[in-house]
Amino acid sequence: MQPSKISKLEEQAIKLLLERGEGILQSELWHELGVSSRDGSRIAIKLEKKGLVKRVRILANDRWTMKLVPQIKRFNPSALFGSPCPLCPFNQNCGPNQSVSPIGCTLIEEWIISSSRGGQSAEYQT
Ligand code: SF4
Repeated sequence: MQPSKISKLEEQAIKLLLERGEGILQSELWHELGVSSRDGSRIAIKLEKKGLVKRVRILANDRWTMKLVPQIKRFNPSALFGSPCPLCPFNQNCGPNQSVSPIGCTLIEEWIISSSRGGQSAEYQT
């Protein structure tokens, strides 16, 4: 699957959505972005088609409106702390369609299990 292109305005919208966390009214979004309601709606629809937001109809201030609820979360790099990949001797050749793959990698599997239990390390076997 090809990653879809994200416009500058869509990128700004995503940043706003991630800052708000719980979502934002569609009208607030286009106000914050400084675009017309028509352009704001287009951006919201594009983001929904890309699976980045869900548009939910809600009643706000006695009016039906759309709320954009993010379907993504801010990336937390600390979640990767202790991953065996940076020091792995197979790192350069690991990936989809490569000679080595994370799928079936026992080091990754052990690290994920260990991390979920509060540990952080996987040891290489020589
Ligand atoms: S997924 Fe496994 S084999 Fe690939 S780089 Fe990470 S530890 Fe090494």
